[in-house]
Amino acid sequence: MSLTIREKALLAAGLIITILIAPTAYSVLMLRRIAELAASRAAADSRASGLVAGLDALVEDARRVARVVRLDPETGPRLDESIEQIQDVLREIKESSDPPIPELCVEAAEAFGTVRRVARPESGEETELSDAEADARAAISRIKTALQRAAGAHTTEAVNLAASAARFTLWSSAIGFVVAILLWASLVRSLSRPLRDLLAGTEKIGRGQFDDVIPIRADDELGRLAGAFNRMAEALGDIEKMKAEFLAAASHGLRTPLACAKGHISSLASGRHGEMGLESLKTLVRIENEIDRVSRFVDQLLDLGRLRAGRLTLSMRDLPAAAFFTNIGRSFEGLAEERGIRYKVDVSNDLPARFNADPDRLGEALINLLDNAFKYTPLEGQIGFDVQPEEGWIRVIVDDTGPGIPAGEAKRIFERYYRGGAVSADGAGLGLAISRGIIEKHGGAIWSEEKEGPGARFVFKLPVQAGGAGPEAAA
Ligand code: ADP
Repeated sequence: MSLTIREKALLAAGLIITILIAPTAYSVLMLRRIAELAASRAAADSRASGLVAGLDALVEDARRVARVVRLDPETGPRLDESIEQIQDVLREIKESSDPPIPELCVEAAEAFGTVRRVARPESGEETELSDAEADARAAISRIKTALQRAAGAHTTEAVNLAASAARFTLWSSAIGFVVAILLWASLVRSLSRPLRDLLAGTEKIGRGQFDDVIPIRADDELGRLAGAFNRMAEALGDIEKMKAEFLAAASHGLRTPLACAKGHISSLASGRHGEMGLESLKTLVRIENEIDRVSRFVDQLLDLGRLRAGRLTLSMRDLPAAAFFTNIGRSFEGLAEERGIRYKVDVSNDLPARFNADPDRLGEALINLLDNAFKYTPLEGQIGFDVQPEEGWIRVIVDDTGPGIPAGEAKRIFERYYRGGAVSADGAGLGLAISRGIIEKHGGAIWSEEKEGPGARFVFKLPVQAGGAGPEAAA
């Protein structure tokens, strides 16, 4: 049966309310029954006690009349009347009481019958009358005792009933509470699990993973939303693929004419087609610089396309650590000198002798960082390139005295096409995204750190051995 979220919530609320209300309703009913029972028993007991109390006076009267009858037979009817009154009372008690009181009443009535009989002078000895009277009194006293016991038993019955009602209410409330919590938890789970799936799916799409399908857990609104989400992810994946294919085609298409244009410029500059003036040569250099910029951009687009499509493959090799980092660091010394920048390359002597990486790709990532440092650091500034070992990792720090990274941008600068709001140097916002992709492919991590004083500091860690602990461990 498929229910909407609204129906599920209403059903769960209904069940929870029923489960919690049922014990309360039951205990109210029980309490009412106990009150009625106690009231009716109390009325019966007090009526019986009143009747028994009245009996004492009647019995005493009968005893006196019985004595007189022996002396004056004329008073016989008076005794009959007195005994009948006693028997009427006994009958009443008998009708309104539970066993064994009715039998005791019958016995008592018989005992008074005997008193009436033996009170007649013609019936025999006076001692016989005394015995009959004693029997009758004993019968009355047995009735009193039984009535007291019955009253006690009624009180105990009411107390037991109340205790068992309290026990039942307590247990049923506890069980109801647990069931209500389980129901509530299962409702919350049925809502939160698909939402968590959606959140995870959205984050994956944000990271450019369009292939993962989120599970459709129920045929409700969230299930339909998950289905729509999967269709949207598929469509986005198709668009992304088309975009990557277009970028790759366009980049490849641009590379050849750019290389040709560079060739023509070199041949013009070489003077093979006639001597050129100084101004013309300067213009040629500017054109060549622009072509280099476009070529770099095209290369970056190609790299990014490969990274996004997971097609950026690494040719891992064992590299001499100190030589690799020193060479890359030193390759910027000329530029530093040209710009009057104090540039310090510090490659630790304690680095492991060799480490595992793709030299071209890692070099590209490092050059992006150093390029940025030189691009954003003003003339006469300072740049440091520091490489240190760190328990199975190599830690590289590039820091400068440029404008630095505003706190709110530290994460965003690694997104593709993101450019800081305050930077004036030109660029496409691709360099850091590519560097991050390359370093993470090596199992490392890269981030920017706050530093004392002006400027930016970029840090990355690489495992000495490929297939190390991965970016999370590095971070
Ligand atoms: P681009 O430099 O082409 O804009 P990047 O991906 O290399 O693209 O850098 C992204 C952004 O990060 C830059 O636009 C800039 O805001 C910031 N950034 C990178 N390196 C530095 C740096 N050394 N100093 C200051 N800001 C930097």
